Amino acid sequence: MHQVADRENLLGLPQSGLEAYFAAMGEKPYHARQVMRWMYQRGVTDFEQMSDLSKSLRQRLSGSAVIELPKVLSQHDSVDGTVKWLFASGMGQAVEAVFIPEPGRGTLCISSQVGCALDCVFCATGAQGFNKNLTAAEIIGQVWHATQTLPRRSNGGFAVTNVVFMGMGEPLANYRCLVPALDLLLSDLAYGLSRRRVTVSTVGIVAHIDRLGDECNVALAVSLHAPNNALRDRLVPINRVHPIEELLETCWRYAAKHANRFITFEYVMLRGVNDSLKHADELVNLLKGKPAKVNLIPFNAFAGTQFSRSAADTIRQFQDKLRYRGLVATTRKTRGDDIDAACGQLAGKVSDRVRSRLSEKHMRMASA
Ligand code: SAH
Repeated sequence: MHQVADRENLLGLPQSGLEAYFAAMGEKPYHARQVMRWMYQRGVTDFEQMSDLSKSLRQRLSGSAVIELPKVLSQHDSVDGTVKWLFASGMGQAVEAVFIPEPGRGTLCISSQVGCALDCVFCATGAQGFNKNLTAAEIIGQVWHATQTLPRRSNGGFAVTNVVFMGMGEPLANYRCLVPALDLLLSDLAYGLSRRRVTVSTVGIVAHIDRLGDECNVALAVSLHAPNNALRDRLVPINRVHPIEELLETCWRYAAKHANRFITFEYVMLRGVNDSLKHADELVNLLKGKPAKVNLIPFNAFAGTQFSRSAADTIRQFQDKLRYRGLVATTRKTRGDDIDAACGQLAGKVSDRVRSRLSEKHMRMASA
């Protein structure tokens, strides 16, 4: 049994890491390519079944390595076709991933951390505090599970055509494990997604946005949520460290690296907080003429929150104002709310942990 714990988990290693693993065994690096195809494209986790490897190599691998996936604790299916999974991430912790089918595409929303340290005041994940970073295996394991369990598309491809890091956690605060996971999403030996179909959503950790622009070049979404610093300081506390001007400068640098590819700005619609036409005008003044589009997200309530969703009319008028003044603006369709799978509702509930933290936080806010 002890040996099992010592075996290296090959899941989540980028191609270069897997090649180094084979080189260290005294084997040819090209075996990395074979094993990657087996793992990610064919969903095989037993080395014995990897029939294009020699018998002796299969035996050596079985002795020294494993392909270990995160354990699935539950699956929920929404009436609208959305599917949510809860994955164990050790020590009684769990994270969620959500699959959202749409005509012509299927988006998988994955988690990068258990909990989150950023403490955005309208987010259920933030309310539970930070627990731990997911490993690259735990991140890519969510994709493995969805691609292997969902029925394939009519063209034979995986149901998952797009991946967004919009589940639990702040991906850029787990940069070290994010990069190998992105590598596998983009690699032709694994999921082979184009860079446009992989989106990292961030609250705005500026140094890591710059690094991501240099190293990975995937689509970027930024959680703006407020058009001025006074309001954003309140809603998204990291704004006190990296104010809007600094964040936007970083975004325009990111866009400029890739032929001015558009950056999506997420804006959660909170009733009476950030949803007036004056806010819309301020937002236009920040983004006009830039490679930016705005995605309005109707707020999704969760137990213990002090916020409520803007009225549908308010959201429509806000969006019209942005469009009238020349911005590209869309409103995110709320999906899977019957199974608590909508944006901001993911909390990885395995116990009363979330509820108790929420009420603690509520008390702190009430006494502040
Ligand atoms: N940490 C990343 C990913 C977060 S989740 C980030 O901040 O971008 C993806 C989006 O959902 C973010 O824009 C986040 O602010 C938003 N969100 C969080 N809580 C929400 C809620 N209760 N309702 C609607 N959107 C929410």
